Amino acid sequence: MSFATETQALLYTPAVAQATAALRARLRGVVPELEWAVHAPYVEAIQRLKAARRAVILAHNYQTPEIFHGVADITGDSLALAREAARSTADVIVMCGVHFMAETAKLLNPDKTVLIPDLQAGCSLADSITGADVRLLRQRYPGVPVVTYVNTSAEVKAESDICCTSGNAVEVVEALGVPRVIFLPDEYLGRYVAGRTQVEVILWKGHCEVHERFTAEDIALFRKQWPGAQVLAHPECSPEVLAAADYVGSTAGMTAHVERTRPARVVMVTECSMSDNLAALFRDVEFVRPCALCPHMKRITLPGILRALQTLEHQVEVPAHVAGRARRALERMLAVQPAQHSLPSQPSPAARLPEGERRPS
Ligand code: SF4
Repeated sequence: MSFATETQALLYTPAVAQATAALRARLRGVVPELEWAVHAPYVEAIQRLKAARRAVILAHNYQTPEIFHGVADITGDSLALAREAARSTADVIVMCGVHFMAETAKLLNPDKTVLIPDLQAGCSLADSITGADVRLLRQRYPGVPVVTYVNTSAEVKAESDICCTSGNAVEVVEALGVPRVIFLPDEYLGRYVAGRTQVEVILWKGHCEVHERFTAEDIALFRKQWPGAQVLAHPECSPEVLAAADYVGSTAGMTAHVERTRPARVVMVTECSMSDNLAALFRDVEFVRPCALCPHMKRITLPGILRALQTLEHQVEVPAHVAGRARRALERMLAVQPAQHSLPSQPSPAARLPEGERRPS
């Protein structure tokens, strides 16, 4: 098969319509008819090229439905993608997510080609801290282990003792068996963890630009506008938002909660595409969609994925002097007991919480 890169008009022909009919049926009501005619030729072309390249496509829960349901082989939250990346036997991994996720895939698959369709797909949270910041914190708190959320660069992971995700943060903190940890970089996730463990947690004031936008007033408004709706919130939201929610958990936790409880109506206080992707799976649940788009996640598109497979760009590399230490922090996380789907819901009254750290100016 040719990996031709010349721009060919991709048309919604009867053959393409037939090849994508089952997917079209699954996404009815989620992806508008007019849009589908644009997406379907790309879906069909990507599926063919993916097989020829012996590639696997990983997509985060915040990817749009035509990517998440249309071309991805493996979907999930950061933890699921990290685990699956570690097990992959494909020659090529295409990460439909942001840059730190592609770095994680590369760290766990150093001999494979890892591609990200858009190099500009970054993350405000990952950008809130550098390796030099972590070294300064270690000087300030000698001997205190550093637990780092996976939403960080490889450079920051390399300075850390262990990584965690929003799905396993409490287990990871407690697995260390120490009285105090430095938790980086998400302040709100760190506060949430601190409220659910006896371990003292030193925080950093990093935030996700998507989740920090939600307020407790928004939650009150949602409840007024959509009576009876269950409110599910991601722990990257502020403590006030989490206190006002009915359920708090990672994106995997939210999915499991919806699957288990089948609420008639639900508000997902997280990135927009999460609701779209679940709406295609749970037809009996009404998803209210307060829209908070992650501009970084939305840089990944079907044309970009096709181009990545055609050109094998952009390849993600991690310098050797960083990779070994960063991989060790990830592997320590993966060795911790499999994550529960959600964080415990009842706060521990004994939690102590120092003031959040700031990057020295
Ligand atoms: S949703 Fe937030 S944490 Fe996730 S990639 Fe976007 S900015 Fe980063």
